[in-house]
Amino acid sequence: MRALIVSDIHSNLAALEAVIADAQRRGGFDEIWCLGDTVGYGPEPGACLKLLQDFPLVAVAGNHDRAALNVRESADFNNAAAYSAVWTAQQLSDQHRAFLSSLPEVATLGDFTLVHGSLRAPLREYLLNEEAAASTFGRLTSAFCLVGHSHLPFLCRENRDGPGFVQFTEDGVFPLDELRWIANPGSVGQPRDYDPRPSYALFSKGEGEQRGALERHRVEYDRSSTQEKMRQAGLPVSLIDRLDHGV
Ligand code: ZN
Repeated sequence: MRALIVSDIHSNLAALEAVIADAQRRGGFDEIWCLGDTVGYGPEPGACLKLLQDFPLVAVAGNHDRAALNVRESADFNNAAAYSAVWTAQQLSDQHRAFLSSLPEVATLGDFTLVHGSLRAPLREYLLNEEAAASTFGRLTSAFCLVGHSHLPFLCRENRDGPGFVQFTEDGVFPLDELRWIANPGSVGQPRDYDPRPSYALFSKGEGEQRGALERHRVEYDRSSTQEKMRQAGLPVSLIDRLDHGV
């Protein structure tokens, strides 16, 4: 079994299409696991929701998904994000809204728990330091936790003396050992690690007792087509420009 792990797609259809095609070239996948923020910021929220649902899918809600359903959820957003939340809400059909409303904050399947931010605050917390990682490990009832939200790829291992962050290297393969791990695949639609290329992960289940392995990849995409659609939609220039810089 292989799963394509995506997060923070942010209505960037060209980026999502490039990621799916790249994963298919690398041996394919049986299902998609989506860690939230499928919509918000970008120009094609409905098409991203539709494309995801073309595959067997396990998905959780992100804060931008909730903001598109209820503007009050965007109270802590900056101006550009709040503007895009209102714009996104106007693009959604009843079907899109029903799908987004159905998303849980946390999903557990086998060895994996999926959540957008952290298990302490599923929609809000940026899991970026050892204290936050320890808090999520404390609440974790499975072996592995997959998070998004920060748009920054990482791996974090629950060592005997506490959590330890390690780089989730591009094209590296990380066998999952007997310890527990938290992983962030990075962002598909709005990377923030100074690399504008969409980032994603693949999980391959192991044979027998083997727990399997995670790998992370990046892919080029037609950024200018997404940016042109954002211009046509009148979305904030700051959101258009940041896609060039991966911030
Ligand atoms: Zn996000």
